[in-house]
Amino acid sequence: MSIISKSATQQREMLRTGELTSVELTTAYLEQIKSRESAVKAFVHLDEQQALDAAQQIDTRRAAGEPLGDLAGIPVAVKDNLCSEGVPTTCASKILSGFIPPYDATVVAKLKTADAILIGRTNMDEFAMGSSTENSSIQVTSNPWNLQCIPGGSSGGSAACIAAGFAPLALGSDTGGSIRQPAALCGIVGLKPSYGRVSRYGLVAFASSLDQIGPMTGNVEDAALLLQVLAGHDSHDSTSADVTVDGYVENVTQPLSGLTLGVVDEHYGDGLEAEIKSSVEEAIRVYESLGATIKHIEMPHASYGIATYYIIAPCEASSNLARFDGAHYGHRADPSTSDQTSTSEDALTRMYRSSRAAGFGDEVKRRIMLGTYALSEGYYDAFYLKALKVRRLIRQDYDNAFKDVDLLIGPVTACSAFKQGEKTADPMAMYMEDLFTVTANLAGVAGISIPCGLTDAGLPIGVQLQSAPFQEDKLLRAAYMFQHATDWHQRRPEF
Ligand code: GLN
Repeated sequence: MSIISKSATQQREMLRTGELTSVELTTAYLEQIKSRESAVKAFVHLDEQQALDAAQQIDTRRAAGEPLGDLAGIPVAVKDNLCSEGVPTTCASKILSGFIPPYDATVVAKLKTADAILIGRTNMDEFAMGSSTENSSIQVTSNPWNLQCIPGGSSGGSAACIAAGFAPLALGSDTGGSIRQPAALCGIVGLKPSYGRVSRYGLVAFASSLDQIGPMTGNVEDAALLLQVLAGHDSHDSTSADVTVDGYVENVTQPLSGLTLGVVDEHYGDGLEAEIKSSVEEAIRVYESLGATIKHIEMPHASYGIATYYIIAPCEASSNLARFDGAHYGHRADPSTSDQTSTSEDALTRMYRSSRAAGFGDEVKRRIMLGTYALSEGYYDAFYLKALKVRRLIRQDYDNAFKDVDLLIGPVTACSAFKQGEKTADPMAMYMEDLFTVTANLAGVAGISIPCGLTDAGLPIGVQLQSAPFQEDKLLRAAYMFQHATDWHQRRPEF
C-alpha cells in the first residue's frame, strides 16, 4: 500500500515513530503530482523545492529531539485566496496577477506553527465565485473521477488535489458551499465550520458575513486533525468567536449515543437526481442502524436560500472588491493606451475603469453589478434589507430545528459532477448547485460533506450533516460513525 493512500492521521503516527520521514512523504506526493497534475490541473502554484527544504528541516529537527507541531512534516495544499507571505496569491484572478502578500493569513500562520509542509496553491473560481472552478482565469481543473467533468467549486483545486492523491490535507473556503460541494463531487470530506470558528484574517474577502475557511481531507479523522489546528479566536478578526475549541482529534472516534437526526422533506423534491436521493436515503438508514432516531422537520424558509444568498453575497462582494482598482494590488491598466469611452473621464478614473474591466472575469463583473444595483438608493430596501430579513428567518428555522434534533442530514448537491462547459452559459443553473449548502452560511451553522456513494457512471455522491453553531465536535463524531460503518471514503479514482 502506497504511503499516499494512508490518512494524514496515520502518516503523522509513522512520522512520529520514525517509520517514515517527511522528505519521503513529501517526495511521494510530489511524484504523484508530477505524473498526474497535467491531467488534473489542481495547482496554480507549486512550491516543490520549498516543500522539500521544509520537510528536510522537520526531519532534522525531529532527529534532534526538538518538540514539533501537530502537523509536523505533513503536506498541506492551500486555496489561492489565502495570503501566504512571499507567495503569489491570485484568487485565480487577473486583477491580482503579480500580487505577493507581505503577511500570512492566520490559518497559514497556524499551519506553519504546526510545522506543516506547504506544498502549493490550489485553483479556484475567481474570487471564489462559482461552483465548478471554470471561472478561474488561469485554468480549468478536472475531476479526477472523470477528467471531462468539473470538480465542483469554488474550492475545486483543493478537492481535486485530495481525490488525486496530491496532498493529504487541503484548505478551502466556503461562502455558499464551496468546501462541501466540491468535496461531495470529488468523493472526499469537506467541513465548513461555524461562522467565527476559524479566523478569516488574510482570506481575500468575497462576502465577509458568509465566508469561512475549513478543512478538505480524505477522511473524517483528518478533518478533525486539521480543524484542531485552524480553529480558535484571533484578535486580528473581529468576527472570530471566543468559544472554546473542543478536543476534536481526541473525541472524533467516540460514537454519539441517542443521536437524533433531522430530515427536511423539501430536500427530496423534483430537482434531486434519483441516484443521489437513494444514496442519501441509504445513509439515513445506516444512521438508523447505528441507533439514531430520525425526525422529520420543517425549514419553511429554506426555499428562499438561493434568492437570499444571491442578493447578500453579491452586495458584500461589490463592496469588498472595490479595493481592486489597479492602484493598490496586481494588474494596472495603462490609461494612455486604454480605450477612452468618455471624453470627460480623467486619467485616474480611466485607469480604475480599465484595470477593473480587464482584470475581472465575467462572473465577478456580474456579481459586482448585481450587488451595486441591490445596494443602490431606492433598491436597498427592496433587495438588500429584505434579504437580511429572510436571512434572519432562515436562522430561526435552524434554531427551531436544533431544539428538536442534534443534527440535520440531507444531500449536498442535487446532481453529481457535470461535464465541463455544460453550465457555463447558464448562470442560474450554476447558482442552483448551491441549493442545499447556502442556508448553512446564511445562518452561520456548521456543515460537513462525507462520501456516501457512487453513481452508475462512477461519480461520487456526498451526504451533508449540519450542526448548530460551534458544535463541530458533534458533527465530526457523527460523521465518523458513518464513515466507520461504510467504506465510501476509501474509494479513490483510477485515472
Ligand atoms: N457557488 C457559490 C457562489 O458561486 C458559493 C461559492 C463559495 O462558497 N465560495 O457564490
